[in-house]
Amino acid sequence: MIWYDETAARREERFSIWDKRVEQDGTPQAIPQKYARELQSKIAGKVVLPGDPDYNTDRMVFNPRFSAYPQAIVYCVSPADVAECLNVSRALDLPVVVRSGGHSTAGFSSQSGFLIDVSELNDVGIYPESECAWVGPGTTFGKFNKHLQAYGYHTPGGACPTVCVGGYMQGGGYGFTARIFGMNCDQVEAVRVMLSDGRIVYADSEWNTDLYWAVRGGTGSNFGVLLAVKYKIYPLNSFAGFSICWSMAGAEGETQTANALAWLQANFMRTGAPDQLGYQMIWAYQGAEGTAKVPMLLMRGMYNGSTEDMRSVIQPVLDQPGAVLQTVYDPMPYEALNEALLSKPYEIPEFPKNFPFPPREAKLSRYLDQLLTADDWLKLVQYYVSTPNQTAIAAMEIYGGAIATPERTNAFIHRDVYCDIFFDVFWATEADKDQMLAFSQGWADTIAPYWSGRVYQNYPSPDNPDFGENYWGSYYPVLRFIKSKYDPLNLFRYPQSIAPTDRLDEDMGIYGLDKPIQHAHRS
Ligand SMILES: Cc1cc2nc3c(=O)[nH]c(=O)nc-3n(C[C@H](O)[C@H](O)[C@H](O)COP(=O)(O)OP(=O)(O)OC[C@H]3O[C@@H](n4cnc5c(N)ncnc54)[C@H](O)[C@@H]3O)c2cc1C
Repeated sequence: MIWYDETAARREERFSIWDKRVEQDGTPQAIPQKYARELQSKIAGKVVLPGDPDYNTDRMVFNPRFSAYPQAIVYCVSPADVAECLNVSRALDLPVVVRSGGHSTAGFSSQSGFLIDVSELNDVGIYPESECAWVGPGTTFGKFNKHLQAYGYHTPGGACPTVCVGGYMQGGGYGFTARIFGMNCDQVEAVRVMLSDGRIVYADSEWNTDLYWAVRGGTGSNFGVLLAVKYKIYPLNSFAGFSICWSMAGAEGETQTANALAWLQANFMRTGAPDQLGYQMIWAYQGAEGTAKVPMLLMRGMYNGSTEDMRSVIQPVLDQPGAVLQTVYDPMPYEALNEALLSKPYEIPEFPKNFPFPPREAKLSRYLDQLLTADDWLKLVQYYVSTPNQTAIAAMEIYGGAIATPERTNAFIHRDVYCDIFFDVFWATEADKDQMLAFSQGWADTIAPYWSGRVYQNYPSPDNPDFGENYWGSYYPVLRFIKSKYDPLNLFRYPQSIAPTDRLDEDMGIYGLDKPIQHAHRS
């Protein structure tokens, strides 16, 4: 047998590319060659520098609207690789961001400093006997759900199969079953995190409790590199489902939709709907390719129980004028139901055939914590239907149920609200961009009187100077203190990273702030 040393082969391949490299005007800055060579020599993963053949694809995130030029991109295949990257970043005082799935809606996982890519850290271990799973940050929800389903388990996750655990969990994590079980971050029993000095810490309800609190909602690339997450899992994987819709077409459609929204908000969101029901309401233009599309309010949900029970639960909704029952799904596996709810009879949003994918996109999140009248809803509906581009959607992620735990459960504090409503605009060309961003701003102005002042941190917009207040309210000073404790060098930094401070006036009831970091391993 001929022994093939993959790491050595990769090193030689990288070095031969760098040897031929000619610095040209306009080439983005790279970390010094000396550091790049040493790093590539030590790790099993791959270093990519500006000028490398793959650099221009590797530096991109899911949303092509964002285009940053990191000085180094490193695909890590083990925690040891991550530690070597941090050594180099510290030596060069280069800001670090981490990338798992690259779905940050503000492009935060690729910036101009050091990019540590952990998409290869994607092991999944399901442990039925202790009803838990250990999952790597680079695990997509497509993969995680397949593993859970194989063992007949569930834990609430995202609707999109390519979003990864690494970013999603740290921003909260909403999906169809969040009302039934809680947010994704509420299922986390423990985490392993590599701090900026390369040491690995374990955090749970007894160890490093302040980090355990912060990492569940405090957003990524702040406290360290998340290496693994331990989730609570539930011994079931099938849910019943339904789709109901209202047409928003014409004055009558707009009024019926606004009345339905007012009724639903008062009777079927924060309270009223049973805890075993999770649902979202999406405003979207729908119709077959090539036909005139119609603006619709789509109510799509999952129910933990029988079809018969679900039918009686949704009957009061169907009694609202204009409601049309589209589909009832008998209990079926979560992943298939999730996909059906978002793609049948039409994809949401539905892009014309020639629309570039993935699309350029801008998301804008607003939480609602006060009741709107039917007239208020009508203003929003009328604004939405005026979209210059029928791919725009508004999506209401309905809260209440198991999400409504005490505010300080963890750093995801949006507990006592009706819903998050995110406005999502897409554009195919630069010429359309300004128009769609202006349309999104018009939505922000229209919804402003009803907005609670909070924003879902998993849907960041790039320009938001008030992010600390919007994401965490009065808990932001605590997060700043925890940031300074676990990342004293402020190595993890980007436009909306938490600003460290060693001053704290009020602990807000968060435990462990005064304790030293516990470094010993535990698992
Ligand atoms: C198409 C699409 C669908 C979505 N659907 C949903 C949904 O249904 N529900 C929902 O709640 N959200 C949804 N989101 C938002 C999504 O949850 C966030 O964008 C999430 O942060 C993405 O995580 P990621 O690892 O894929 O992305 P990344 O861009 O890799 O990471 C996001 C942030 O976390 C940091 N980070 C990533 N990994 C690590 C790590 N291992 N250690 C430390 N920091 C890290 C990054 O630096 C970045 O700041 C969606 C986004 C998109 C684009």
